Amino acid sequence: MKSDKVAKNFFEKGNEQLALGKYSEALANYNNCLRFVVNKTIESAAFAARAEIFFKTGHYKQCIENNQSVEDLNNLIDKIEYLKNIEEKCKNANESVDERDEFFKLSLPKNEKIPFIANCLEVRENEMYGRFIATTQDLTPGSIVIIEEPFYKILSSTERNLRCAVCLKQNALNLISCTKCSTAMFCSKKCADSTIHKYECGTMEENFEKALLRRMFYQAIDICGSLQELEKLMNHHDPKKTIMNFDLNDADELKNFKNRMLATMTLAEREPWSSEAYAKYETVTRELKAETEHEKDFLRNYLVHCLKSMTVNFFHFFWSSEEKAPGKGFAICSLAAYFAHSCDPNCDKVDFDNKFVFVARKPIKKGEQLTICYDRYNFLTHTLAERKEYFNRVYTFDCGCVACTHNYQKLCNLPKIDKEFVEPKVNHESFSAMKTQYTNNCEYIRDHIEQYPCYEICTLMNQNNHLLHSMGNFLALA
Ligand SMILES: [Zn+2]
Ligand SMILES: [Zn+2]
Ligand SMILES: [Zn+2]
Repeated sequence: MKSDKVAKNFFEKGNEQLALGKYSEALANYNNCLRFVVNKTIESAAFAARAEIFFKTGHYKQCIENNQSVEDLNNLIDKIEYLKNIEEKCKNANESVDERDEFFKLSLPKNEKIPFIANCLEVRENEMYGRFIATTQDLTPGSIVIIEEPFYKILSSTERNLRCAVCLKQNALNLISCTKCSTAMFCSKKCADSTIHKYECGTMEENFEKALLRRMFYQAIDICGSLQELEKLMNHHDPKKTIMNFDLNDADELKNFKNRMLATMTLAEREPWSSEAYAKYETVTRELKAETEHEKDFLRNYLVHCLKSMTVNFFHFFWSSEEKAPGKGFAICSLAAYFAHSCDPNCDKVDFDNKFVFVARKPIKKGEQLTICYDRYNFLTHTLAERKEYFNRVYTFDCGCVACTHNYQKLCNLPKIDKEFVEPKVNHESFSAMKTQYTNNCEYIRDHIEQYPCYEICTLMNQNNHLLHSMGNFLALA
């Protein structure tokens, strides 16, 4: 799987990008080089090149780490003097901590048992929506109510040189490669040493669902210790419990993991396995070690149950607001899974690093349900007929949201309310410019909401979604 020929090719591509000042692209290529490399000289040259980029982009900690890797390889390449020089400069540089670090944090006090959600959220249930999320307080536009790291997540094969295979963090592209295979890079030593990758090492599963199903199983075995223990745990779980019934603040990390695992298992009802569903994933199950007939039966049931929780609840990682951007990761959340769809959603989902951040798009009243838009099908982008067809085909539901009931028009046909309104151009110049624009947009939305739906508010809501993604990407690389 490792190959110096492939590595060298990527190294040269990296050099081309570096010469053009395209640092992210160059890093992506050097990372690919490090995935495949065996030869120590090429390896240390790739680390040296990364050190140079991290120096130029002000990532001093990462610069020093990469210099250290060059030194560890004990391979004196001609750049070493230069590296020593920049390392000295890095040590003297003062990294400034500013407003950026504080941007993605909950806008309200956190829930005492579930630290990643605001204390105003509840999971409720009714006939129409099943379980859903509601707020017990009024929310203003821009309020951040959930910052959830999905419990199960898997990276798309196209992103192998860009994110950690275990936790999906980007770590400013300063990744380390698996020493055995070319299919995984890691954000840290901790992830590199995790047992999860030991199960997956060298596997080239291209199918998202299969890869995720396999991870759901290995993660469960890792947490429980054995198939027998997993079975015991599953037999004791109460399917009525949602994540709101668990306490995730326990000092015992393993206990938290077990609770989060159980909370994701209660997302779908348990049903006996169908041979049809099982056959689809036979390649996954064949490699799992079940010995007795009883174990095999349990395993089949368990996997079908995982499959069900997955197919009705998965999220994509997008890391981009581009409408046509493909999903780059696949994830299951224990709380965010309860978000219902609306073609006129009141929350935005922003994919920040390896987490999903949920933010109020517009004012939300106490008692109201929180909604997001599934698969980017909303009234601004798709007509009623297009949405009807899509949701019936993919999710087998008839959307009863306010936009569908009142047939809200697409953006270009919406009424204009404000003669003074000048559509602001999205300003990407700096983080603080984006933040100011975002804050102004939120205020405008709050002050004019009585006239919703209108062209102005919808334009600014779109812009805010875009700004949130840009700010998230900026911070992830900062
Ligand atoms: Zn990681
Ligand atoms: Zn590996
Ligand atoms: Zn709808």
